[in-house]
Amino acid sequence: MERKIKVALTGKPNSGKSSLFNQLTGLNQKVGNFPGVTVDKRTGMCELDENTLAQILDLPGTYSLYPRSLDEKIVAEVFADRKGIYFPDKVVLVADTTNLKNCFLLLTQLIDLKIPTIVALNMVDVAAKSGMSIDIKLLSSLMDVPVVFINARKGQGIEKLKKLLLLPLKVSERKVFAIDSEIMPAVNEIKDKLQLSSDYESYQLLQQRDHFNFLTAEQKKFIVDLSKEYKVFPGKYQGAETILRYGFIQEVLNKIIIRSANPEWNKMTHQLDRLFTHKIWGYTIFFTVLFLIFQSIFTLAQIPMDFIDGSFASLSNYLSNHLPHGPLFEMLASGIIPGIGGIVIFIPQIAILFAFIAILEETGYMARVVFLMDKIMRQFGLNGKSVVPLMSGWACAIPAIMATRTIESWKDRLITIFVIPFMSCSARLPVFAILVALVVPDVKVIGIFNLQGVALMGLYLLGFVAALVTAWAMKIILNVKERSFLIMEMPTYRMPKWSNVGYTIIEKTKTFVYEAGKVILAVSIILWVLASYGPKDEMNGAKEVIQTRNIGMNLSTDEINNQVAAYKLEHSYAGIIGKGIEPIIKPLGYDWKIGIALITSFAAREVFVGTIATIYSLGSTNEQPTIKARLQSEINPLTGGPRFTPAVGFSLLIFYTFAMQCASTLAVVKRETKSWKWPLIQLAYMTGLAYGLAFIIFQILS
Ligand code: GDP
Ligand code: MG
Repeated sequence: MERKIKVALTGKPNSGKSSLFNQLTGLNQKVGNFPGVTVDKRTGMCELDENTLAQILDLPGTYSLYPRSLDEKIVAEVFADRKGIYFPDKVVLVADTTNLKNCFLLLTQLIDLKIPTIVALNMVDVAAKSGMSIDIKLLSSLMDVPVVFINARKGQGIEKLKKLLLLPLKVSERKVFAIDSEIMPAVNEIKDKLQLSSDYESYQLLQQRDHFNFLTAEQKKFIVDLSKEYKVFPGKYQGAETILRYGFIQEVLNKIIIRSANPEWNKMTHQLDRLFTHKIWGYTIFFTVLFLIFQSIFTLAQIPMDFIDGSFASLSNYLSNHLPHGPLFEMLASGIIPGIGGIVIFIPQIAILFAFIAILEETGYMARVVFLMDKIMRQFGLNGKSVVPLMSGWACAIPAIMATRTIESWKDRLITIFVIPFMSCSARLPVFAILVALVVPDVKVIGIFNLQGVALMGLYLLGFVAALVTAWAMKIILNVKERSFLIMEMPTYRMPKWSNVGYTIIEKTKTFVYEAGKVILAVSIILWVLASYGPKDEMNGAKEVIQTRNIGMNLSTDEINNQVAAYKLEHSYAGIIGKGIEPIIKPLGYDWKIGIALITSFAAREVFVGTIATIYSLGSTNEQPTIKARLQSEINPLTGGPRFTPAVGFSLLIFYTFAMQCASTLAVVKRETKSWKWPLIQLAYMTGLAYGLAFIIFQILS
C-alpha cells in the first residue's frame, strides 16, 4: 500500500453510519475508547484500490457540533482539533434522505469549518418508497460538495462512494454562517494566534473552549481573556446560529426536493406509534415483550450452558489425569480453569439477552419504549434512556453500565449507573437456583405456576424495586433540579438487519469477557490462593487428621479426599477470615462456612455455589450426589436441626439480591465515573442494605 487516508463517518444518530461502516470495513474493525473518556471508538480498514487504504472512523451520532452528551462532545472535539490524531483527511456525512433537515445542520457546520466532506444520502430505498424525489446535482452545486446516493443496508452505492474517496477532494466554497461583526476581531486574533484554517474554527473555540481538551492551559486562558474583553459567554450566539442555518437549509431543500413524500406512506408508522406509546396498550405490550424475553433466555441458554459446564469439567478431569500434580497444577485446575469457566458459562445468557435488545432497537421499537417509559422513569431520577441499560443489567452489569454513555444528563447517568447492580444479573441465577431449590417447596400454585419459579421472579422484581427506590432516594439526595428533556427522533420501523444484530452481540459479549473476565480471573486466583494456603502445620497435617478421625469407618478415597479438601479450606487463610467475620454475620444466621463463601464469591457471585459445595463435603459420610442433597442433610450442631433452615435460606437469598458482591462492577464504575468515590459508596450502600434486610428476614423467620 502506498497511500493511507483517514476517513470519518459522521451524521445524526440512526442515519446509517454504523451500517455504512460495516459495509466498508467488513470484519476488519476494532472497538476501543477515545483516550481519557469512555466513548466507544470504532475504527476499521477499507481497501479503496490496490494502492490506497482508508482508515475509517465511525463517530458517535450527533446533530450538530454543539454537544449535549459525552458522545457528541467527542465529535465536536475531533473536528475542531486539526492537529489531533483523529482529524480526518475526508469526512463522509451520512444523511437520512427521508429527514434531510435534521441531517444538514452538521453539514453546514462542516462546510464552514472548511473540512473536505462528501454527502452520502442514505436510505434511498425508504425515500423511494415514500414517493420522494431529489435533485442531487443541484444539491451538490448548492452546497458545493460531492453527493452520492447509497443504501447502507443493502450495500448499494458503496463502490461509487469508494471511488469518490479516491479522488482529490476540495473544500466547499460556501460560507453558510456569517459571524457577528462585533466579535470578528476576537475571532481573528484567535485564528492568528493558533494558526487556524477558518473563521468558524476560531469561532468554535471561542464559543466552546470549555469542551475542548486539546487546548493548552495557555491557549484556554488566551481565549477566556478575549471572551471577557468581547463579552462572549459560551453558547451566546448558538441560538441565532442555529436559526440561520435552518433558514439556509430550508431554502436548499425547497430547491432540491422535486417531489416530497406522499403523506399517506407512513400512515402505518403513525398507527403503530399510537399503539406502542398508548397509556394502556403501550405498557401491556412492553411487559409482555419483557416476559417473553425472560422465558426465552432461560430456555434457550440452558443447552449451551450445560455444554460449557460439561466441557470445563472434562477439561479439569483431563488435565488431572495428564499433568503432574503439584501447586502449579492445583492453581490451574482449581483456580484458573474454574475461573475461566465461570466467565464463559454466562456467555449464552448475555449473548441472547443482547440479541433481543439489539433486535428491539433495530426494529425501531425500543425508541418507542424509551419515549413511553420516560415519564415514569423521571419520577425516579432516571430517564427513558435508562431503560436499555437497566434491561442489560439482567445480563451483566458491566456492558449495562457502559450502555449508559448515551444518557446526556450526567446526574441521570450517575443514578442509572448506581442502581444497575440491583438488576439481577446472570451470575446471581445459579446462587438463587440452589437456594430457592433448598427452601421453596417444588409445588404448583393456582394449578399452573411453579412456586419455585414464582419465588425466582419475585427476587428479580425485588432487585428492580430496589433499583427504583434507590434511584428515587438519590434524586432527592443529589437534589436534582436540572430539567433535562428527552430529545429524540423516532426511527421508522424496519426489519432488523441481522448483521447489525450480530455485531452488537459480539461487541457486548466481548465487553463482558474482557472487562468482567480480567477482574474475575485475577480475583479468582487471589481467592484460590487464600483458600488453598494457610498456616503450614494445619494444612500439611490435613490428611492425617482426617484419616485418624475416620479410623474404622471404611470410607472410599473420594470421601476421604472431600473431607481433606474441606478440612484444608477450614484452615486456609480464607477459612481464617471466614471465622473472623463469623460474629458479624451470625445475626444473619450464617456460620463461618457461609462466611467463607461470602468472601470467595466476591470475585463473582456464582462462586458461592462451588465454595459451599466444597466446604459442606465435610461430614457428609453418606453418599450425597447433588449439592442440594448435601446441603439439605447438613446439620446445625447448635440446634441439631438442619443447617439450611428456611430462615437461613431466605436470609441468603435477600443478601445476594441486594449485595454488591462483584469486583468487576466496582472496577467499571470506577472507570466510568473516574473516581473511587462512587464505587465505594455503592459498595457500602448495597452491602449495608443487604445486611440490614437479611438480618430482618432472618430474625422474623427464625
Ligand atoms: P447509526 O446510528 O448512524 O450508526 O445507524 P445504523 O447504521 O445503526 O442504522 C440505523 C438503522 O437504519 C438500522 O436498523 C439499519 O439497518 C437501518 N439502515 C441503515 N441504512 C439503511 C438503508 O439504506 N435503508 C434502510 N431501509 N435501512 C437502513
Ligand atoms: Mg452507530
